[in-house]
Amino acid sequence: MQKLRWVGLVSAVLATLVAGEGDAKGDGPAKPAGFANADPADDMIVGPPVPRDDCEAALKAEGIRFSTARLGVQKRKTMTCGSEQVIVYHRSAAGIAYDPPAMLTCNMALALSRLDAVVQEEAKRAFGKRIVRIHQLGTFACREMKAYPGWVSEHSYANAIDLETFTLEDGKVISVLRHFDKADAPAKAEGRFLRQISQRAYDENLFSNVLTPFFDALHRNHFHIDLGRYRTDGTRG
Ligand SMILES: [Zn+2]
Repeated sequence: MQKLRWVGLVSAVLATLVAGEGDAKGDGPAKPAGFANADPADDMIVGPPVPRDDCEAALKAEGIRFSTARLGVQKRKTMTCGSEQVIVYHRSAAGIAYDPPAMLTCNMALALSRLDAVVQEEAKRAFGKRIVRIHQLGTFACREMKAYPGWVSEHSYANAIDLETFTLEDGKVISVLRHFDKADAPAKAEGRFLRQISQRAYDENLFSNVLTPFFDALHRNHFHIDLGRYRTDGTRG
């Protein structure tokens, strides 16, 4: 776990330095506030996220299509799993259908809706087309982190999602496994698209943790994004 904690701490410090530099120069528009937890004081707290009183109203205000769901919080041996409040996310106002629909915490659904808007902006820039579908590999699994035994994954609370492929309106499929390009400047539009959406997901504070193939081999075929209480920028080499 030390590596992840380290990466998180280093990225938090860097983010502070970068933010401070930007503020001092007064350049560029302020980044919209996202859902990432930027407070280092609670990084070591492990447990399900706090429910929102206004969950359904907030989802409706964003134009998110969802269905209600119940997961509950369960104790399994030494682990606590589940969340008091989850919904099933079908699609956002950006018109991207999730395949299969994704059971998520409320803030994950709201953050995903923002990501969907970013995905459409970047798809338009890279391909001049819209994304119609995202295939996801899972949100809820009561388990420790695969690479860091003893540490609880945000998947334990349905507070994470793994994104595998993005389908354009013409049927073309962009896959993290096939198209993610680790070069400084990705050569193809697919590589640039995947780089942009993953870095914007982190840099615009949509999510606390964004892991890509840059992070480790377990993430060679998907983007892991979550709203844990610590931060990790896994979008850079
Ligand atoms: Zn994951």
